[in-house]
Amino acid sequence: MRSKLVVGNWKLNGSLEANAALLAGLKAGFKSLDGATLGVCVPAPYFQQVGAALAGSAIAWGGQDASRFESGAYTGEVSARMLADCKAHFCIVGHSERRAIFGDSDAAVAEKFGRVKAAGLVPIACVGETLEQREAGNTAKVVLGQVEALLAAHGQGLMQDAVLAYEPVWAIGTGRTASKEQAQEVHALIRARLGEVDAGLSARMPILYGGSVKAGNAKELFGMPDIDGGLVGGASLVAEEFLGIWAALGSR
Ligand code: PEP
Repeated sequence: MRSKLVVGNWKLNGSLEANAALLAGLKAGFKSLDGATLGVCVPAPYFQQVGAALAGSAIAWGGQDASRFESGAYTGEVSARMLADCKAHFCIVGHSERRAIFGDSDAAVAEKFGRVKAAGLVPIACVGETLEQREAGNTAKVVLGQVEALLAAHGQGLMQDAVLAYEPVWAIGTGRTASKEQAQEVHALIRARLGEVDAGLSARMPILYGGSVKAGNAKELFGMPDIDGGLVGGASLVAEEFLGIWAALGSR
C-alpha cells in the first residue's frame, strides 16, 4: 500500500507566538491514521522551535526549500544537511513560487532533490502547469517534462522514498481548486510515466495534490485512485482546518 500524507506549507508566515499556538492546536487535535503522515514545512528560523514542539509526537516537519549547494560561500542559503541536523523529516523542492519568483530551473530543482536525498530526508518535489500552459493544451507536456528532469538526473533509484506533488499553479492560493477529475487525470499521467520506468516505483510513489485544498474539498480529491493526500498552503495555518483535511484522508 502507498503511504498517504497531508503536508502543510507555511510559506513566509509565522511568529514564535503564532507557531506555538498552531502547533499546540495540531498536537491536541491530532489522531493517527494507519499508513499516513501529517507534517508541516516551516521557515528556517523556526526549525528549532518546531522540532522541539513536535518531538515525541507523530507529526513530522520539514523545510520548504534546500540549497543546491552543500556548504560554503552561499549567503542566505539553507542546506539539506542543516535540515537533517535539526532532525527534519522532509523538504519541499521545486515549489512553483520558487520556480516563478526565484528562478529555480528544472535542473536546479533536480540538484536540490539530490541534496535532500543525500541528507537522508524525504524530498517532496512539486510539478504543475500555469493557466496559460493548461489553456494552450500543454498540461501533460509541462508536468511530464518536470518529472522527466528528475528522472533524468536521479533515475529510479533516487526516486525511491520520495514524494511528488502535483500543484497546478492556477490553483495555488487562488481558492480555485482543480476538480477531482482534472487532478486525477494528471496524477494518472504521472503514475503511468513512472510505470514506464519501474512498475514498483509507480505503485509506491505517493503523489499529493496541492492547490486550494480545504477541509470541505479534501475528501473528494483524496477519494481519487491516484491522489495520495495533499500539500496544503493557506489552510495549514489554521489548526482546525488543517486537521479537517487530515481527517478527510481517513474518511475517503
Ligand atoms: C502550496 O503552497 O503548496 C499550496 C498548495 O497553497 P494553497 O493551499 O494555499 O493553494
